[in-house]
Amino acid sequence: MAQKKYVYFYGVSKELTEGDSSMKAILGGKGANLAEMANANLPVPPGLTISTEACAYYSKTGGKYAPEMEKQLKAQLKKLEDNMGKKLGDPKDPLLVSVRSGAAVSMPGMMDTVLNLGLTDKSVLGFIEQTGNERTGWDCYRRFIDMFGDVVMGPYTGLTHHDFEVELEAIKKKYKAAEDTDLTAEQLKELTEVYKKVYQNKVKKPFPQDPVEQLDLSIRAVFGSWGSERAEKYRQINKISGLLGTAVNVQVMVFGNMGSQSGTGVAFTRDGGTGHSKPMGEYLVDAQGEDVVAGIRTPKHLDDMPNEESPIWKKAYADLQKIMARLEKHYKYPQDVEFTVQEGKLFMLQTRNAKRTGLAGVRWAVEMATGMDFFTGEKQAKILNQKEALMTLSGDDLEQLLFPIFDIAAEKKGKVLTTALPAGPGAAVGKIVFEAAEAEAAVAKNPDEKVILVRHETSPEDVGGMWAAQGVLTSTGGMTSHAAVVARGWGKCCICGAGDLKIDYAKKTVGIGGKLYKQGDWISLNGSTGIVYDGQIPTQVSPVVSAVVDGKASAKNDPIYKMYEQVSKWSDSNRTINVRTNADTPKDSKAARSFGAEGIGLCRTEHMFFEGDRIWAIREFILAEDEISRKSALAKLLKHQQKDFEGIFKAMDGLPVTVRLLDPPLHEFVPHTKKDQQEMAKRLGVPLKKVTERVQELHEFNPMLGHRGCRLSITFPELCVMQTKAIIGAACKVAKLKKAVKVLPEIMIPLIGTKAELDFLEKIVRENAEEIIAKTGSKVTYLVGTMIEIPRAALTADEIAETAEFFSFGTNDLTQMTFGYSRDDIGTFLPDYLGEKILPSDPFQHLDQTGVGQLVKIGVERGRETRPGLKCGICGEHGGDPESVKFCVKAGLNYVSCSPYRVPIARLAAAQAAIKG
Ligand code: ADP
Ligand code: MG
Ligand code: MG
Repeated sequence: MAQKKYVYFYGVSKELTEGDSSMKAILGGKGANLAEMANANLPVPPGLTISTEACAYYSKTGGKYAPEMEKQLKAQLKKLEDNMGKKLGDPKDPLLVSVRSGAAVSMPGMMDTVLNLGLTDKSVLGFIEQTGNERTGWDCYRRFIDMFGDVVMGPYTGLTHHDFEVELEAIKKKYKAAEDTDLTAEQLKELTEVYKKVYQNKVKKPFPQDPVEQLDLSIRAVFGSWGSERAEKYRQINKISGLLGTAVNVQVMVFGNMGSQSGTGVAFTRDGGTGHSKPMGEYLVDAQGEDVVAGIRTPKHLDDMPNEESPIWKKAYADLQKIMARLEKHYKYPQDVEFTVQEGKLFMLQTRNAKRTGLAGVRWAVEMATGMDFFTGEKQAKILNQKEALMTLSGDDLEQLLFPIFDIAAEKKGKVLTTALPAGPGAAVGKIVFEAAEAEAAVAKNPDEKVILVRHETSPEDVGGMWAAQGVLTSTGGMTSHAAVVARGWGKCCICGAGDLKIDYAKKTVGIGGKLYKQGDWISLNGSTGIVYDGQIPTQVSPVVSAVVDGKASAKNDPIYKMYEQVSKWSDSNRTINVRTNADTPKDSKAARSFGAEGIGLCRTEHMFFEGDRIWAIREFILAEDEISRKSALAKLLKHQQKDFEGIFKAMDGLPVTVRLLDPPLHEFVPHTKKDQQEMAKRLGVPLKKVTERVQELHEFNPMLGHRGCRLSITFPELCVMQTKAIIGAACKVAKLKKAVKVLPEIMIPLIGTKAELDFLEKIVRENAEEIIAKTGSKVTYLVGTMIEIPRAALTADEIAETAEFFSFGTNDLTQMTFGYSRDDIGTFLPDYLGEKILPSDPFQHLDQTGVGQLVKIGVERGRETRPGLKCGICGEHGGDPESVKFCVKAGLNYVSCSPYRVPIARLAAAQAAIKG
């Protein structure tokens, strides 16, 4: 049997490289992309990737290596040594490596890297001898002890980076060094000795002098970190599941800490906050590893690089720009890269798809596919076609364009406290808290609580609180700090590096702009500009909303609106199904139509019953004791209903409107408190007893399975008569207006379980509709159809389709009845079900494709057997959920229907489903 491959080689040449970017699941994102860059002949230090499968084996066996893995590691390491002409830990000329974690999905800051592995008391001298750079030698060694102590030994011994940091500060103070780069070789050597003592004190063993042992312990630490609490938490929050583990990358070191012609940095090919197409980044001269993001020294802006004193930087900058452009084109997606310059030579250490806000994502997509800057009109490279552009987007991205921003006038008047880095966009208003745990607790207690997390910096332990907060404000760290990267990935408002913040964690106060704020005081953040304001600044709707819903002409010139428009156009030209909306009022219908709705898929008539005086008419109907009094009560409702329908038909001129007959149980229309019942009795001129008795009668043990839907109209046919008159009366009226409205009413009968139910009501609908049409001499045509929301209806769809002219899958009730979960009570057990992974997600949010979805498919199939081309749609909450929309496309539905603000998202999802095929 062939041996399982656990260790992959990359670098040196294309021929020697064994992986590529398609192998993320087993090489992790970092390893797969390092291999991909090596395949493209980019300057990547060579190395090995130990697969995620090896990690899975290690986790499963409680800490054992797969036997083949050890053998393969040895052989591959030998290959690496041979190619580099150096041996790991060789006292004369040591090969140094980094040990880097990396799962299939990038998890910023979750698992830390160890650099300069292979240095020992002896080999450091060999390194110095070979490089002729004493300072670099000691700098690398002290860093290695620090990282190895913290990352590898820390979890067992409590040794932390901080333990070393205090010694570094002490020695800097002792020698009056402002920065760590001011320390001399001699001083760093002294520091190394101190570090070894710090290590020994906590670990109770001397720092390991065998490079093979160093490597072994480091690999184990990476594997072990996969199951750490903070990694688990990050995966939980970000809904990352199904991964095998993390890969381990053992990579030949390059040195950014070799003096003024060396350095290290991170860069983005485009701005992940605003989406601007200009590369941005930060770097430090004479630095190593994560110095840039650690906030030890303040990094420089990428644009400053060509102006460095040494001329090598001009070339390094040009090389980097060229490589970044190549990578973006190659991956067809903006990249986030890490690089190091060693004595003038540029090395690429990582590339991955850049994290971004929704706004940036939309801007990237439209600009990369049109080759035009939507803000300036400047030309740029065309990298994608429109289909590829659409596939880079998610519903959440579009949704962010519909998020509120600060009211412009109010923001102008706002009191500016400080300005710092705009690390995550949008507006956030909230009460100050200083601890992530407090932010989490406050929101757990009251989900409407709005807090801003204010900290020196954030760390992976804080992600729960960052998630809970409206926004994050930090006093240190740059655009690539932990807070910035995490917040941007979520599209959360974040401002970083506000240096003049005076935070006192003990007193729970922060001084900003000369004013002292306590925990609980309000501040406002504009994450797009980096400005911190005093108090609460009112927020304003997005330009897309003002242009689309309010029809503001000025907003239509806003680039954000234009981007939205572009995405919508492309979505429409690619999708194969229609998108309708769920709307009950002329106002909602209008808004939905401007968001691109192609009709109403669900108009819930009962929503009209609650407005103004109408509730009294329906209550009168409920109390009435005979048909005559019921009819007279309904006559009062008729006027109102007809007027509502006229408004809706006008708003939807030319588009179909599906109107559902009354659905909820009648008890929803009567008051349940004594006081309100008294009022009802008084108002309707009946004794209180009559009211209380009727309310009592209406009580049901299972109202959702009780007297509702078509069952109401079967008991009270006059209800169905009234509603038909209102719908068809309105249709005939607006069709006859001078400015004639084209009406396409579809009358939908809810909660059908048998064909006989439908037949009974269809007859009433048709008789009354025909009568009005004949009386008015109108040419209005209409359809009569049903909802499929009871499993029996789906199963007998062939019979039902003999009568029904269309189907609309009411997936809320269908889910309720298929699972037997009460929609209103699922909250009591859903968290347990999700926690124990009994359900993958809330089935009322994401359609259960295997079970409920099967009923949808059966319904469509059997329905169309009887009535070929039967029009089928879906009108549950699922109509606005991208994954569910994709299912609907596959199931052959003609349309999905969702709430007005979800329409653009459904259009995009429908297009994506069509493109994917
Ligand atoms: P993270 O996953 O947190 O980004 P990385 O594994 O990318 O961690 O390592 C962090 C940094 O360490 C890199 O950005 C790079 O600067 C440095 N680094 C890692 N490996 C090497 C190497 N072989 N040579 C030089 N620097 C390295
Ligand atoms: Mg890190
Ligand atoms: Mg990295």
